[in-house]
Amino acid sequence: MEPLLKTYYKRYLSEVRRLKPSTVKHYCDALNNITRHLQGMKMIEGSIYDILDLHQLKDLRTILFADPSFIAQNKKGNQMYSAGLNNYVKFAEGTNLLGLHHDVAKLDMPMPVRTEEPRHYEAKHWARSDILREQTLAVADYHCEMDGRHQTFVAERTHKPYMESHHAITIHLQSRFSYSLDVYANLICLCPVCHRKIHYGLRDERREMLYEIYEKRHERLAHSGITMGKEEFADLILAD
Ligand SMILES: [Zn+2]
Ligand SMILES: [Zn+2]
Repeated sequence: MEPLLKTYYKRYLSEVRRLKPSTVKHYCDALNNITRHLQGMKMIEGSIYDILDLHQLKDLRTILFADPSFIAQNKKGNQMYSAGLNNYVKFAEGTNLLGLHHDVAKLDMPMPVRTEEPRHYEAKHWARSDILREQTLAVADYHCEMDGRHQTFVAERTHKPYMESHHAITIHLQSRFSYSLDVYANLICLCPVCHRKIHYGLRDERREMLYEIYEKRHERLAHSGITMGKEEFADLILAD
């Protein structure tokens, strides 16, 4: 069965962008070529369309675009491979779908999509403790650590104000550190708005938040084996 994202992408190119079948084929051929290239590099097993994680897709692109044999091939092909992948990434991240509104129904499959067998993910994840998360909230007395006055709502589960725990230095940077990032010193209790903001807010505003967290936590982080300067701390997190 064709991967779902491949079908959607083809429908997007033909039904929404209204490209000629030959152009659609061009785009798809470029991605098939990229699939083979990434397989050759042992970066993926299935096709590029089987990647369901945007972060991973973008990481693969970065790696591919730095690969000498890909660079050479892409040059020969007048950059059509890189253009094809860039277009697909724009589709994947939704940039290409802005303002689609009622046209989105054109992407719907003509037939209901059968479910696949549940997939087994072999990817490794750094373990993070739910217990620590819960404790972080209690330790902060269910107050947002950016500003204790931030209001949320009462959570059914705890009958306490709803709060979220956040890793100041994200766990997926663990491989760069010799000591665990899943420690109290690195965990912060945030209200949901501050939590979304620290992940998705404007860069400058996120930097300000990170400086504040650094001031409050750098000594405890150092005790936990995580030593760095303020700028280094902010840059590391913002670059991710
Ligand atoms: Zn977080
Ligand atoms: Zn807050």
